[in-house]
Amino acid sequence: MTDTVKYLLDEEHLPKSWYNIAADLPEPLAPPLHPGTGQPLGPDDLAPLFPMSLIMQEVSTEREIEIPEPVRDVYRLWRPAPLYRARNLERALDTPAHIYYKYEGVSPSGSHKPNTSVAQAFYNAEEGVKKISTETGAGQWGSSMAFAGAHFGIGVEVFMVKVSYHQKPYRRNMMEVYGARCHASPTGLTNAGRAVLQRDPDSPGSLGIAISEAVEVAATHDDTKYALGSVLNHVLLHQTVIGQEAMKQMEMAGEYPDVVVGCAGGGSNFAGIAFPFIGEGLRGGRKVRAVAVEPAACPTMTRGKYAYDFGDTEHLTPLMKMHTLGHTFMPPGFHAGGLRYHAMAPLVSHLVELGEIEPRAVYQNPSFEAGVMFARAEGIVPAPESTHAIRGAIDEALDAKEKGEERVILFNLSGHGFLDLSAYEAYFAGKLEDSDYDPQALEEALKGLPEAG
Ligand SMILES: *Cc1c(COP(=O)(O)O)cnc(C)c1O
Repeated sequence: MTDTVKYLLDEEHLPKSWYNIAADLPEPLAPPLHPGTGQPLGPDDLAPLFPMSLIMQEVSTEREIEIPEPVRDVYRLWRPAPLYRARNLERALDTPAHIYYKYEGVSPSGSHKPNTSVAQAFYNAEEGVKKISTETGAGQWGSSMAFAGAHFGIGVEVFMVKVSYHQKPYRRNMMEVYGARCHASPTGLTNAGRAVLQRDPDSPGSLGIAISEAVEVAATHDDTKYALGSVLNHVLLHQTVIGQEAMKQMEMAGEYPDVVVGCAGGGSNFAGIAFPFIGEGLRGGRKVRAVAVEPAACPTMTRGKYAYDFGDTEHLTPLMKMHTLGHTFMPPGFHAGGLRYHAMAPLVSHLVELGEIEPRAVYQNPSFEAGVMFARAEGIVPAPESTHAIRGAIDEALDAKEKGEERVILFNLSGHGFLDLSAYEAYFAGKLEDSDYDPQALEEALKGLPEAG
């Protein structure tokens, strides 16, 4: 018994601007600080790393920022993205709740990440930049940046966390198809990489290390800039096309969500779906509950400290005030590589502090269980990251059932899991551990936070 309910928008409803939540914050964000001096950063301090147009977006408090036509044109390859009502999942759960999901896996790289990689490649090309250096964990960001670089004729050099480079060759292959170069980080190509290798020749790498390498390459080459796939204000801004479209699609469905759910690694897909709804509430309109689901093995919002910290291990990035586990913290291995970052976006962290976002941590086995249930009911095999959002949505639906409530739930399905099937294999083989982070290691890492602010 299948009754597919899908809400599609015409191309004319593709958003014309990004929504900047900084315009609606009751209290402004703490400013980023210079890593050397500890003083607030000016736009010029960031100029070696980013094109000026992105720096201006990073500090903007204007509510609407126009999406350039060439970016909208690439968005049209897969946007507007579909919104579905998960009727079969509702039935499987026997819940009175209505569950909707926005599907971002229809993009060329299979996730929400091209919403920002395309914009970043465009602004870099416009400023005459020849090459973009960046990092990637499991490879989703690297492949998204490679796709966008190919489109705008920019070279892309990717530092990929070494353990993933060897374990997950397909994402690397995909980057090469798009013409990018991909290195196993730490490399011998940068001072940062060489320093790590000297300390630990067998280092498996980490996102923090790969960021140090990519930032160093941009800072030391005039024709090269750096790109980040999450965390920064302008990245979250670009993702708001997700929530703006979802708002129109919920209107088509004749409903408004009571709760909006997303998984959170650096916070960008969650912000993408939730910020337009949270903003509505901040301006005096309807309020939603916004639930950000993070992995219990890397519990940035639920166990981290809200403090200034570096974005990388080698202290090259600006200091940002955010929920952090400490830039030296090594989370235990788990299969949602995209959620394995030590910190959370400053905007998401700030809104958690203001009580506008409810953080929640879940283990990976219950997440995969939710992902498998979703795939059997709805047909789409979710990315391991996205299964955390599904877990969050299912828990909301079960809670509504217990209380006999007709709750309207909207979640973001950030990507598909076609290149992550080995994680499902491990799940079915009972090989996934619900490992906790090491509290002692966390305490140690938090001791290493910089004295700032
Ligand atoms: C990268 C990634 C994430 C996590 O990143 P955010 O910035 O928190 O969105 C989540 N889902 C998928 C499919 C990803 O590729």
